[in-house]
Amino acid sequence: MEPLIEVKNLSQEFHLTKGLLQSLRFEKGKLIKEDKVVHAVNSVNFQIQKGEVFSLVGESGCGKSTTARTIIRLLEPTGGQVLYKGKDISHLSAKELLPYRKSMQMIFQDPYASLNPRQRVEEIIMEPLLFHGIAKTRSEARERCMDILKRVGIRPEQAGRYPHQFSGGQRQRIGIARALAVNPEFIIADEPVSALDVSIQAQILNLLMDLKDEFNFSYLFIAHDLSVVRHISDRLGVMYLGSIVELGDKHALFGNPVHPYTKVLFSAVPTVGEKPLVESIEAQGEIPSPVNLPKGCYFSDRCPYATEKCRREKPVLKEIEPGHLAACHML
Ligand code: SF4
Repeated sequence: MEPLIEVKNLSQEFHLTKGLLQSLRFEKGKLIKEDKVVHAVNSVNFQIQKGEVFSLVGESGCGKSTTARTIIRLLEPTGGQVLYKGKDISHLSAKELLPYRKSMQMIFQDPYASLNPRQRVEEIIMEPLLFHGIAKTRSEARERCMDILKRVGIRPEQAGRYPHQFSGGQRQRIGIARALAVNPEFIIADEPVSALDVSIQAQILNLLMDLKDEFNFSYLFIAHDLSVVRHISDRLGVMYLGSIVELGDKHALFGNPVHPYTKVLFSAVPTVGEKPLVESIEAQGEIPSPVNLPKGCYFSDRCPYATEKCRREKPVLKEIEPGHLAACHML
């Protein structure tokens, strides 16, 4: 079956631009121009099927959100491709991208920052409906807006209010309503509950899952809370320094994590009265800078099992068992 989303060798780099004078330095009597590049996403590959919840996990700064923003073309990829139903959308112009903008929506971590504080809620929801021609008239748009608000748990009589007049959980419901309004097939949820009170998080997660069951869209879920990921995902990818180091369905990954970094990540999950997810292993040192990626395996500076080969050759993802892949020379 053709995947809904296919990410092929996707890369994202940022040049740390400086003034000409600041970027010049002397080395061995020569004047050298230094161009520092942040390698945020490094040749990432995965697919998302229709109706599937695929999650990316990893420590902050590992490139999860940059990958998501590149897929949805908030950022132009510097390498690789993003295919939507087989069509390469990685370098389409803004005009060519319009039909895909409707099909791919994003729910942000901070609902307040992502909602225009000067627009009433009804305007926030109606605007994309009219822009994409989903509603032909304002009254049609208003009717649909009220239906969607009810569906996400906001009362229609609250539609005339501004975002600041709502609680954090209600604002996230409005962000979800805005994404839902244009009938998307694919939603990126970037840490959608991490800014909310713990008491509200479960309600928003349940809402997201109920909506998926009702509308059968696919999610790319970005999260650092592994218990949330375990609860909602079908499959997941573990990212370290902009690369996927392990990928598979959640039962394989949580039941039998094989990559040393996945074990480090999973062994940090606190468990109360339950067996730990994996035996505890610790990474040495700090995460290297994405400006100076280690040669060979990116985890080699910190991995307790690193060998000379690890420091020389970058391991590629290979199948450990059907549908379960990991990138490690030890496997
Ligand atoms: Fe550790 Fe080597 Fe595997 Fe990298 S390739 S995770 S350094 S054992």
